[in-house]
Amino acid sequence: MSERPFEIRDDLRAIPPYRAPQTDAPIRLNTNESPWPPPKEFAADLAKRIATLDLNRYPDRDARALRTGLGARHGWPMDGVWAANGSNEIIQTLLLTFGGPGRSVLLFEPTYGMHSHIARVTATNVVRKDLPEPWVLDVSTVYSAVSFDPPALTFICSPNNPTGNAHPLSVVESALEAGSGLVVVDEAYGEFGGESARALLDKYERLVVVRSFSKSWRLAGARIGYMLANPWLIEAIQVARLPYHLSALTQAAGEVALKHATAALGQVAEIIAERDRLSKEMERAPGVEVFQSDANFILFRTPYEGTPLWEQLAAAGVLVRDFSAVIPRALRVTVGTTDQNATFVETLRSVLADAR
Ligand code: PMP
Repeated sequence: MSERPFEIRDDLRAIPPYRAPQTDAPIRLNTNESPWPPPKEFAADLAKRIATLDLNRYPDRDARALRTGLGARHGWPMDGVWAANGSNEIIQTLLLTFGGPGRSVLLFEPTYGMHSHIARVTATNVVRKDLPEPWVLDVSTVYSAVSFDPPALTFICSPNNPTGNAHPLSVVESALEAGSGLVVVDEAYGEFGGESARALLDKYERLVVVRSFSKSWRLAGARIGYMLANPWLIEAIQVARLPYHLSALTQAAGEVALKHATAALGQVAEIIAERDRLSKEMERAPGVEVFQSDANFILFRTPYEGTPLWEQLAAAGVLVRDFSAVIPRALRVTVGTTDQNATFVETLRSVLADAR
C-alpha cells in the first residue's frame, strides 16, 4: 500500500478491510444472497410508496412503523425492537455501546469475520475460543469460556457462518447463566434452520437476537437488519446510534416487505430443499467433503489448496468464497437456483478432475 499523507489509528493499521470480491461473474455464489429478487408485487408496492415520501424531511428517527411491524411478527413489543442498515450496523451499535476500551467480546471461532472486525474497529478486546470440528458448541464449553473471564459481550452465531451449523438453544442459556454481560445471538440465517433464541427473550434481560433482511427476505440491496431485546437495551443504545440513521427509503422498503412477508419468505423452503439436494450432489463428487448446513450456504473441503481451487472456479465463471485461510482447504458456496447449483457442481467436478 502506498504511504498515506496522514496515518489512521495505530490499532487499525494491521487490520485488513472487508473484501469479498464483487465482480460480474456469471454465477455468484459467494455472499449468501438469495438468487431470486424480491416478489414483483413488493417492488410495485414499494415504488408507489416511495412516490409518497416527503424526502425533503428527515425520516422518523425512531423508525416506529417498521419496528412496530417487526415486533408484531415476533410477538414482541416495539420498544424492544431496533432496526438499522443491515445487521452489521446492529452489531456495530451493540459494540459501540457495550464494548469499547477495557471491555471484551467473546467469539467462538470460526465464525462471521465481521464480529471480530467490528470489535477491533470499536476498540473492543477480542477473546477467541477456537472450536474443534464440526464446530458445534456445547454447554460446558460455553459455560467455562464465559465464566473463566466474563466478557461484556458473548456472540453466538446460529446458524454459524461459515460452518453452516446451528447451535442448540441450551448453549445460549449457558452463556447467560455463566456471566453477567450481554449474549448476542446472530440469527442472520435463522429462517433457514436452527431454533430461534427469541424463545428465551422473556426469561433473560441480557439477551439480544439479531436478524437480517439480506438473506431469506431477498433484500440484501436494501440494507435492513434488526434486533429483538428487552426495552432497557434499546433505550441504552440510543447514546451510540446516529440520528436519522435509517433513511425514509429504507424504512419504506422494510415496511412494504413486511406486508409481502408470505411471498418473500415463501422461497425459504425451496432454498432448504435445494441446499439438501446440492449437499448430496457435492458429496458424490470425488474427494469433496461436505459439512452439514442449517443455512443457505454449504462449507466444503477438498484435498487441494483452497485458493488455487477458488481461482480456477472463478476463472470458469463460478464465484464461491475461499475460507482456506480460516479452515484449511475449505470453501463455501451459497445455495443458488437449481441451474446455478448444477453448473457449480459440474464446474467443481471438472476443476477437481484436472487437479488430480
Ligand atoms: N451476520 C452474519 C452471520 C452474516 O453472515 C452476515 C452477512 N454475511 C451479517 C450478519 C450481516 O448481514 P447484513 O448486514 O446484510 O444484515
